[in-house]
Amino acid sequence: MLKEKSLLMIPGPTPIPPQVVAAMTQPMINHRGEVFVSLFKEVSTSLQRLFRTEQPVYVFPGAGSGGWEAALVNTLEPGEIVLIVTIGDFGDRWVKVAGALGYTVERLTYEPGQAAQPADLAERLAANPAIRAVAFQHNETSTGVTNDVRALAATAREYGALVLVDSVSGLGALPLEMDAWGLDVVLTGAQKALMCPPGLSVIAFSERARERAFACKTPRFFWDIKAAHNGYLKHQTPYTPAVTEWYALQAALRLIEAEGVENGWKRHALMGAMARAGVKAMGLQLLATDEAYASNSVTAVVAPIEPKILRKVARDGFGVQLAGGQAKLEATIFRIGHLGYVTPNDVILALAATEMALAKAGYPVEVGAGVKAAMQVWLENA
Ligand code: PLP
Repeated sequence: MLKEKSLLMIPGPTPIPPQVVAAMTQPMINHRGEVFVSLFKEVSTSLQRLFRTEQPVYVFPGAGSGGWEAALVNTLEPGEIVLIVTIGDFGDRWVKVAGALGYTVERLTYEPGQAAQPADLAERLAANPAIRAVAFQHNETSTGVTNDVRALAATAREYGALVLVDSVSGLGALPLEMDAWGLDVVLTGAQKALMCPPGLSVIAFSERARERAFACKTPRFFWDIKAAHNGYLKHQTPYTPAVTEWYALQAALRLIEAEGVENGWKRHALMGAMARAGVKAMGLQLLATDEAYASNSVTAVVAPIEPKILRKVARDGFGVQLAGGQAKLEATIFRIGHLGYVTPNDVILALAATEMALAKAGYPVEVGAGVKAAMQVWLENA
């Protein structure tokens, strides 16, 4: 096998288009000069179109997790209560971040595979009117489940809570309307559907969340939205931007705009449907308990054999990298990432490698059944 050629089908970091790689070879520039200002303007307006917002979108050097911190320290005073809805490992991690920052955390927890229900959220908010903000994942990468962001946000707003949304593995892949759905903070990372290498934390604040940030007394420096906003007005960042990553983002956003944001959502919907049809045709079970909530950016599958073995055989024998499970799901599931610079062809290859790896590992599978089912879904939608 040609080891260098391996298909990366994990839910982030995702494959990078050649245009993005090329963009990162540009020489360094003065980050306070005219060239950066025009880069800033183009990237910022393009991000607004992607987030579906009229509000500024701030770009920080950092990982997605930084966005969790930024969302909290700019909107909540020390000791205030945040309700974190967790449907998986990334929700659990946001709980940890809020706890580490000294906030009072309430949690609404679901079993892996389930999506959050607005009625449960309403019950919790009614029981405690002191809850200032509700935080949840758009798409829980660890379980392959997508929350109904619009419905959850509407419920939170009914009770006067701010709506903080982690769309790290959603934005760009799955429909999200920041302004129309009344979302207060939306955060993502560069390394998922934005098709860039890891290294940027991208965050938008609604007007009321920004006003809260301007008044908020929680000590902070790096993630301060007031500083980011004041810089934004001058097309600058408050400290040295990750210039090379900005170039990557510019190139990626041009590709996203060329495809069309909604066409991108459709491509991901098709890939999700193909992946689900494929694994089900192999006789495997989705982790998502209700397929209506199954993610179109990552498919989590109950592994019929030890997932580490399956992934190793798929990678070393058949050239496809699948993801494992996280935390308590490590020994029970595997995941196929299909977001960002990924096409239906890639999904077919991932399913083929999965089937062959299962067969090679001695699991009784009809080789070709999953690929055939996925091809049929593609044909029906072509
Ligand atoms: N939130 C979600 C839904 C994620 O999938 C991830 C990473 O995969 C994160 C947050 C954290 O992002 P990072 O690892 O860049 O800090």
